[in-house]
Amino acid sequence: MYKTIKSKLIFVFLCLLSMTAILGTVAVVNLFSLNHSVNSLMTNNYKSIKAVQKMNEIIERHDSAILMYLDGDRQNGINLFIENNQLFNKWYNIEANNITENGESSYVAKLEKEYTKYSGDFHKLQDIKNIKGKYVAFKYYNITMQPIFNKIKSILKKINEINETAMFRSKNKLTVSSQKSMYYVFGLSIIVLVLGFVISIFFMNKFLNPISNLIDTIKKVKNGDLNARANIISKDEIGMVSTEFNEMTEKIKLFEESTLGKLMAEKNKSLVIVKSISEPLMVLDNNYKIALLNRACEDFFRIKEESALNKHFLEVIRNSEVFDYITNVANQKESQDNQKLICIKSDNRRYYFNITVTIVTGKNKEIDYIVVLYQNVTELKELENLKSDFISTVSHEFKTPLMSLIMGTSLMMEENLGTLNKEQLEVMCAIKEDGEKLSDLVNNLFQISKVEYSNDIFKIEACSIREIIEASYRTFLKAAEEKGVKLYYEMEDNLPKVLGDFEKLVWVINNIIVNALKFTSEGDEVSIKAFVSQEKMCISVHDTGIGISEEYIDKIFIKFFSVDAYGNNKKGTGLGLSICKEIVEAHAGEIWCESQVGAGSTFTFTIPITK
Ligand code: ADP
Repeated sequence: MYKTIKSKLIFVFLCLLSMTAILGTVAVVNLFSLNHSVNSLMTNNYKSIKAVQKMNEIIERHDSAILMYLDGDRQNGINLFIENNQLFNKWYNIEANNITENGESSYVAKLEKEYTKYSGDFHKLQDIKNIKGKYVAFKYYNITMQPIFNKIKSILKKINEINETAMFRSKNKLTVSSQKSMYYVFGLSIIVLVLGFVISIFFMNKFLNPISNLIDTIKKVKNGDLNARANIISKDEIGMVSTEFNEMTEKIKLFEESTLGKLMAEKNKSLVIVKSISEPLMVLDNNYKIALLNRACEDFFRIKEESALNKHFLEVIRNSEVFDYITNVANQKESQDNQKLICIKSDNRRYYFNITVTIVTGKNKEIDYIVVLYQNVTELKELENLKSDFISTVSHEFKTPLMSLIMGTSLMMEENLGTLNKEQLEVMCAIKEDGEKLSDLVNNLFQISKVEYSNDIFKIEACSIREIIEASYRTFLKAAEEKGVKLYYEMEDNLPKVLGDFEKLVWVINNIIVNALKFTSEGDEVSIKAFVSQEKMCISVHDTGIGISEEYIDKIFIKFFSVDAYGNNKKGTGLGLSICKEIVEAHAGEIWCESQVGAGSTFTFTIPITK
């Protein structure tokens, strides 16, 4: 019947309104009846009492008028009597027309009879006085008229008494009826109040129950219970909302079931992939506790996943170097794009792993999981060490014979051991040049083997960039002057210190300057600059030499690459710049070249500065 909340509210409102109207009507009716009773009390009995009082006064004045008449004041006595006679009749008529009480009418009739007699007696008295004189008249007054006067007075008193009694009776009745109506209205008010309260509570519960039921269901769904459904208690707006909500929850449930299924399938797929990776892999939670280990990891570390799960990384792996690296990446002290080469000892053997740490973050960018992949590079590392050992041994073994070869040819060319003809001198010269090139190659190979073998041989410390540049500058100043090339350096005074290996950095600048002097001629310039850019120290060596063609710019840092176009006398080993690159990168820096053919080249590299 009442389908909408609005109609329900109107119904309750009308109920309360009708009850209030009933209460109001009852109160008004009661007040009206009280008012009527008061009015009748005032008008009826009070009117009679007043009339009696007036008649009493008039009868007294009659008596005075008679005495005045008897006393000789004849005319005034008669006049006063007549005047009051009219007044008496007026008040008598009022009383005669206002008979309200039982027995009152008989007394009124008696009053009329006695008063008629009394006024008739006054006429008789006048005749007696005229005929028989004053004393007989006086006697007549005393004997005949005085008793009638008293009788009239007693009748009036009786009428007064009847009305007074009635008045008191009415007053008592009024009090009782007013009390009754008070209790009546009070009782009705309580009934209306209780009824109103009960109706309000009943309907409030009826309206609010579906809402609280809906709220409970919403809370359950919010907490993940997608099977919770709101009861459809009413067909009103709340019932409609509940129906819509239930349908929505059903759809979410279906969606989640399908998504969950897909997610589970994806998870299983990922799990199989992870488990079958041949490199050791482990997943840690945000408290660095083990959440997953693959088979390779179990095999290498000789642990079982079941016993390692939920245990802290250090409790299971016991390698603080790896843990420090993981925490550094997790705390963003190191980039997760990098790898770290870490040596792990097992069974008295050294294993080398390139460790990659990947952070898996959740919705609020908080760490959910940390994936640690151990890429086994032990064989590569061993091969590299072998190669470096070989190069270093070979270059070392080559050095001494080469030196004696170069010195021998020098001695021969200086003709200390006898004169040489022109052809012999040319052969000696070629032998010396090739010997020197070979010596350069050996030196570079030795250098490269040292850099590649291990970063540990770097002595990283805070160094003054001015001292590094000045060391290089001094080495080449004389050679530059001899060639007619202007060599200079520029830098600000308060440059911060750099973090690097002094010797190696001097070697890098030396190598770049050697090239610059090699590819410049008389009148050219070679300038060295140092400046800070993006919180790194930049060192650049600029020359106004022949420049490098664009096609070679990217290649000149590759091992053994040298540009052929300059003629044989400038061809070197092709190792200098590649060693420079290795050294700069070992310092976490970068090196690059900008060049234009004919205009010159600029080699720039960066090195970290101290904080
Ligand atoms: P190399 O021992 O051959 O000089 P580098 O690695 O030092 O080997 O240099 C590689 C090549 O880069 C050189 O062969 C040369 O062609 C080119 N190169 C290097 N520096 C300069 C320069 N300042 N001007 C022109 N070419 C240069």
